[in-house]
Amino acid sequence: MDDLAFGTRDKRGNWTPTKKLEIAPVFVFPPRPAALLKWLPHYLFPWNFLFALSAVLYWYLVIPEVATLKVLSWDWALRLLLVNAIAVFLFYGVFELFLYSKRSQNNQFKYNARFPADHKNSAFFFQNQNIDSLIRGFGTGVPIWTLLEVLGLHAYALGIGTWWNFSEHPLYLFCLALVLPILHETHFYLIHRLIHTPFLYKWVHSVHHNSVNPSPWSSLSMHPVEHLLYFSSIFYHLLIPSNPILMLYQIHFAGFGAIVGHIGFDQIKLSDKYSMNTNAYAHYLHHKYFEVNYGDASVPLDKWFGTWHDGTAEGERLMQARFEARKAQAEAKKMLSEKS
Ligand SMILES: [Zn+2]
Ligand SMILES: [Zn+2]
Repeated sequence: MDDLAFGTRDKRGNWTPTKKLEIAPVFVFPPRPAALLKWLPHYLFPWNFLFALSAVLYWYLVIPEVATLKVLSWDWALRLLLVNAIAVFLFYGVFELFLYSKRSQNNQFKYNARFPADHKNSAFFFQNQNIDSLIRGFGTGVPIWTLLEVLGLHAYALGIGTWWNFSEHPLYLFCLALVLPILHETHFYLIHRLIHTPFLYKWVHSVHHNSVNPSPWSSLSMHPVEHLLYFSSIFYHLLIPSNPILMLYQIHFAGFGAIVGHIGFDQIKLSDKYSMNTNAYAHYLHHKYFEVNYGDASVPLDKWFGTWHDGTAEGERLMQARFEARKAQAEAKKMLSEKS
């Protein structure tokens, strides 16, 4: 399988997909039921299904009995922290090992030709992107994820929130599971816009943007304030009728799912014939250009607010025009203030 059949490579070796990024046919008018049905399997597999499955496995194999959850204790909280840390290390680690350590497909389908481990950068602890990301991800990322998870589960056990069972409300809970990724994306878009405001960008979000060329370990490389905001989506499940398994799915979608935009490869080669689409490109463009694609491709928020970059030359032109207009506006404002 040749990546040049799917995209182009520039002189520096950076690969760009030819296919335009498409926004999901969900929020469209008039509705497009045929396109929606065709899109649904891509929406569910492999990522969303995998994160939902992980929530079910956690509920039955990792999370203690409700009676235990009623009492906050270091015992079960630390056990959950350990399981989360091991699960993240293994899950992210598999992608990191094959794609970045073994370089099993070299730079085939790789957006940025460079591998972070080959370059020192003073923006990172020990001038090393991987070490910096590991310290942040496991030092504050997984602990904050676990803390919010512990609080959420404890609240459910105490009867805070409305716990509906799958046997009594199967249709509602199934629909909630189906829209849960959309809820995540909307939440992520809103907090992401917030942390791109100048003060919060400087003190909080710039940490994540140090990884201009992200790899799987970059996924949770964030400032602790961003971790808190990012994982707070778990609490929607205390505000609406839900179920602790869906609450786990929500936080797993954020935690394990953070890898999706940071893989750095458009496709993962599984054999000579088969490959898996990663859906990483929209967020990769955000890391590359900073002020496009604050969300992803399921909810057209970027499109509505004029910040969508679809990866094409036209997307690039629209972004540059926006940057130019903003620059002109800033200059006009400066001139006006100098006059007065
Ligand atoms: Zn990112
Ligand atoms: Zn950002």
